Amino acid sequence: MVICTEVACALYCPGCGSLEVYNFSLFSLGRSSFPIKCPCGTPLLDIGRQKGKGLWIQLNCVICGGLHFWHFPRWEVLGQELFTFFCEDTGLEAGFLGPPSLVQQATKQLDHTLAELAADLGILDGRWI
Ligand SMILES: [Zn+2]
Ligand SMILES: [Zn+2]
Repeated sequence: MVICTEVACALYCPGCGSLEVYNFSLFSLGRSSFPIKCPCGTPLLDIGRQKGKGLWIQLNCVICGGLHFWHFPRWEVLGQELFTFFCEDTGLEAGFLGPPSLVQQATKQLDHTLAELAADLGILDGRWI
């Protein structure tokens, strides 16, 4: 079985609100953390390897403004299937990590979802109606 080590993550920036997609290699992760920042300087995600094959991820959540933490016993899973970051407080999707093609698909879906959410809340073009 071929394991893809190139992964992408898609995250909304809590600072400027833009959707950022980053590609990186799971092999390039060292023991120290690998922080991902938005071009505006806001930290989005911290990721690092643990002893063995473990991996931890800390997310700066765009939805609740808090930090969420995940642990993966095996880093290979991230190169094989899509992982969705769910906000623990609200249960909403806050981002995606996984094979680039799957992340791309999920991002389209997320854009759609957020647009519907905005419509439900009565927000159109950033104005309340
Ligand atoms: Zn930003
Ligand atoms: Zn959250």
